[in-house]
Amino acid sequence: MRVVALVPAAGSGRRLGAGVPKALVPVLGESLLVRAVRGLLNSGMIHHVVVAAPPEAPEEVRAELNPLGPVARVVPGGSDRTESVRLALAEAERVVPDAGAVLVHDAARAFTPVPVIQDVIRAVEGGARAVVPVLPVADTVKQVDSSQRVTATVDRSHLRTVQTPQGFAVDTLRAAYDNAGDAATDDAGLVEQAGETVTTVPGHAHALKITTAFDLAIAETVLAAEPVPEDDLP
Ligand code: C5P
Repeated sequence: MRVVALVPAAGSGRRLGAGVPKALVPVLGESLLVRAVRGLLNSGMIHHVVVAAPPEAPEEVRAELNPLGPVARVVPGGSDRTESVRLALAEAERVVPDAGAVLVHDAARAFTPVPVIQDVIRAVEGGARAVVPVLPVADTVKQVDSSQRVTATVDRSHLRTVQTPQGFAVDTLRAAYDNAGDAATDDAGLVEQAGETVTTVPGHAHALKITTAFDLAIAETVLAAEPVPEDDLP
């Protein structure tokens, strides 16, 4: 089965406060985007990666990804994430019209270990229509009312936090996006709304989403102190 990956990376990343689009923020000398795309390619299972770049900086992103070769393509992204994914999916369908599986991966999850990416792809190849990597919830979770008073303690044994890459049969993601509104933040959520089953594979702590300067500091510390095995390096 041919596999393509979409990387929506067109956000400004204001919360990181780095002054450049978040995807281009360097961590130990390499941008989040290069690390994320290289991780996808290192799975050895992906034919093309299509990156949705900030609309004002597609050339900067192309230059950044140039060393990875022609399998990493860049399209200008849209005004919101939904539009960026739609544009990247359209390009992926042009470039690999016979793709059977599509991954959607946040550039911000630049340190996702290769085995997680491979597990997601294998699950789609095995017949799943939609797959997400998940982690158990470590914290106690409370429900509150509008006055911030606790109304319940949620049973966390059935709760999971969701990471990327999320994997889909191409026609499943296409149908979900054809019917999506403008403010979709979770691709698998769209598929759920369409009534399809979403399955899970184990995620990994290193697949954390870099959102704040604190997250970046954690990633730098972890990378410096605990290098992942050579095969897993993004
Ligand atoms: O801002 P937030 O972290 O929710 O964005 C999630 C992902 O969507 C990021 O990888 C961001 O670059 C991407 N995005 C996009 N196009 C936009 C806005 C966000 O590709 N217009």
